[in-house]
Amino acid sequence: MDRPNIVFIMSDDHASHAISAYGSRINSTPQIDRLAEEGARFDNCFCTNAICTPSRASILTGTYNHENGVRTLFDELDGRQQTFPQLLQASGYQTALIGKWHLGHGGHADPTGFDYWNVLPGQGDYFDPVMIENGVERKYEGYVTDLITDMSRDWLQARDADRPFLLGLHHKAPHRWWLPHPRHADLYDDDRVEPETLYDDYETRSQAARQAHMRVDRHMRRRDVKADPPEGLSTAERRRWFYQRYIKDYLRCIAAVDESVGRVLDYLDEHGLTQNTIVVYTSDQGFFLGDHGWYDKRFMYEESLRMPLLVRYPALVEAGSVSSSFVLNTDFAPTFAELAGVVPPEPMSGRSVVPLLQGEPPADWRRTAYYRYWEHMSDPHYVPAHYGIRTDRYKLVYYYGEGLGLNGVADQATEPEWELFDLAADPHELRNVYDQPGYREVTRELTTELARVQKEIGDVGHH
Ligand code: CA
Repeated sequence: MDRPNIVFIMSDDHASHAISAYGSRINSTPQIDRLAEEGARFDNCFCTNAICTPSRASILTGTYNHENGVRTLFDELDGRQQTFPQLLQASGYQTALIGKWHLGHGGHADPTGFDYWNVLPGQGDYFDPVMIENGVERKYEGYVTDLITDMSRDWLQARDADRPFLLGLHHKAPHRWWLPHPRHADLYDDDRVEPETLYDDYETRSQAARQAHMRVDRHMRRRDVKADPPEGLSTAERRRWFYQRYIKDYLRCIAAVDESVGRVLDYLDEHGLTQNTIVVYTSDQGFFLGDHGWYDKRFMYEESLRMPLLVRYPALVEAGSVSSSFVLNTDFAPTFAELAGVVPPEPMSGRSVVPLLQGEPPADWRRTAYYRYWEHMSDPHYVPAHYGIRTDRYKLVYYYGEGLGLNGVADQATEPEWELFDLAADPHELRNVYDQPGYREVTRELTTELARVQKEIGDVGHH
């Protein structure tokens, strides 16, 4: 059989609870849902660091951030490292990357492994964006999500039909500042359902959670919500007002992403490419959609930790299948390599999920997911550095009190603190039970497991 084509669609900050295939209560994504209906949905895909640049580096290299050196937003990926696009390109794939890159530019930080690339500088703009096409900057007229889709279809049309391809279609949306296309301006005029934890009071929880500057009502700016709140609102009313203003624009941006996915799937259908093309939809990490009263990500809490992952490949994947095995963002690169028939010369920490796609999880598949956020009080969100593990039932988090600040300079120390959540009894992570009666034995076991995992993957020390 011919080697499969790969269309790798990645959006930015698209939480799985804003995808109807994942049970969203606030929007509908019929095009993205096609991938779940015709392929596999992964319910436990986690990032190892919930922030753009480091997660993207792990996705490309198949390694943790302590291995690939991209620990914070301020680190650039050294493109001389092994990445899956390079491996596929060297094995005869034609490769393209269109849209968001966000791994630095210049020197060794330009995209590598792509025959063609056209990327946004940094975050890029929603309207009339500047993009860098194989090193040449140009301004494009139009809406960024539509432009990236048009360019991707054009590239598919112009490709060499005799060779397999890898197309990275990486949307900027729905990243802050959430500017929807005017055609979606009237979507969601009625109020959206509020998350269960919108009015979280952080009782029993860490100072980290209490002090984070990501509350919708306190820390969002006018630029986020594009209006001033009415006078005289109570605290709860104010939170509600900010949540509604924010979530509607966020979801309107996703509406364009959903249309984009539909246009790509239609292209594959119309050109007889559906059977032999793997289509992946994911996002670099999750996002707080008013959960815990927050926007943004960074924390190891579920909404930010979890990535959507949908994979359609009719030759291998049973339609409508669902996997609850733990998948990490380090697993993407080895998976793409195996699907393309390439053996990576350098080892990767991640593991190919091909057996999971076939519905045959290996007996020794991981049961613990490791996470580490390295930035420490270094940006306007004031989230302290932390690491931790998630198992099927529990999550243990250690805010270790120091870390990397702006441009890698250590910032103010904080008091170290722990959080432990029993996800079976407390799925919304509202009650910290670290070392509490009834949880002392579990606390000890998980602390030991955390140390074991850190040793196994070689991430030791606090810096
Ligand atoms: Ca992101």
